Amino acid sequence: MKLLVTGGAGFIGSAVIRLAIARGHHVINLDALTYAACLENVASVAKNPNYAFEKANICDAETMDRILTRHTPDAVMHLAAESHVDRSIDGPGAFIETNVTGTYTLLQAARKYWETQGRPDTFRFHHISTDEVYGSLGAKGQFTEETPYTPNSPYSASKAASDHIVRAWGETYGLPFVLTNCSNNYGPYHFPEKLIPVVILNALSGKSIPVYGQGLNVRDWLYVEDHADALLTVLQKGAVGRSYNIGGENEARNIDLVEMICAILDRLKPSNRPYSSLICFVDDRPGHDLRYAIDPSRMRDELGWRPSVTLEEGLEKTVRWYLANESWWRALQGREGVGKRLGTASSESND
Ligand code: NAD
Repeated sequence: MKLLVTGGAGFIGSAVIRLAIARGHHVINLDALTYAACLENVASVAKNPNYAFEKANICDAETMDRILTRHTPDAVMHLAAESHVDRSIDGPGAFIETNVTGTYTLLQAARKYWETQGRPDTFRFHHISTDEVYGSLGAKGQFTEETPYTPNSPYSASKAASDHIVRAWGETYGLPFVLTNCSNNYGPYHFPEKLIPVVILNALSGKSIPVYGQGLNVRDWLYVEDHADALLTVLQKGAVGRSYNIGGENEARNIDLVEMICAILDRLKPSNRPYSSLICFVDDRPGHDLRYAIDPSRMRDELGWRPSVTLEEGLEKTVRWYLANESWWRALQGREGVGKRLGTASSESND
């Protein structure tokens, strides 16, 4: 297939591109190269004749039209987004702009392109979203595809809005879409402001490891390469107009996750004291959802997909990757906001 992947210089988009190219697909990577982007993430495929790059903003309608017409993709995989919850608390405007207006703009361009092509049934608009649209769970239960949307952060609200817009374009204009809502990802090339890289990198440099609140928040962790595989599965086998929850079957409390990473580092790069001695508890994030958990039965029963990596295996692979790729993360540590406490909803907010 010829895939137009938006956000392909980011964490998950780049994993999708590396896997798609390895499987023989043609890929056009469309990315605005914001603070979160790193073209190094796709350096391994950049010279492949099946790969092309377009620096563009999804909010730019004319450019979206031009890129779709020039490359004639069979599918759009839409991952471009503002993705960091803490940044959405400090500056929600960029999230509304990219995640809502940008998705709308891209959808309109995709619709126009699809109509010009004669409305092929085989075309897909694959919208990649998050389980955070469902809000927070208590100690029990799991999100199914029928769980009502209850987003609590500016990030999840903007993603929820984009999900609704995509669905409406399917219902109203017939645009063939699939939608996926995924749990927290981790793995290689994860931007150094997100929890798991922060733990690894702070530990390695002997800095305190900040854990929000009491570390009791629970997330269902999915290894990014498993997510990429799941996305290609949904794209090729998913039913038009259907949504799929993708989970890792790996629930963990933040404090337990952080302690697992410290234990792996103690083994792989011993220091004079256990890395867990660096853990410190900091003020919680405002509106911090307590627990997310995915009911994976639709992916498993309808599409035969399950994650292949356990949390223990995935964390070890991830720690090994950060140990072996210091030049990658060092280069990103200088970017604006990285290493600072963000998202406290203080008076210093941008919006
Ligand atoms: P990321 O922040 O690492 O990458 C986002 C990419 O989008 C960046 O390369 C950035 O330059 C690009 N981008 C941002 N605004 C753009 C714009 N206006 N035009 C074009 N490109 C733009 O994000 P990620 O973690 O890879 O997440 C990718 C997608 O998956 C997002 O839609 C996110 O909501 C969703 N998701 C992420 C997770 C997770 O745990 N990271 C979980 C579930 C769903």
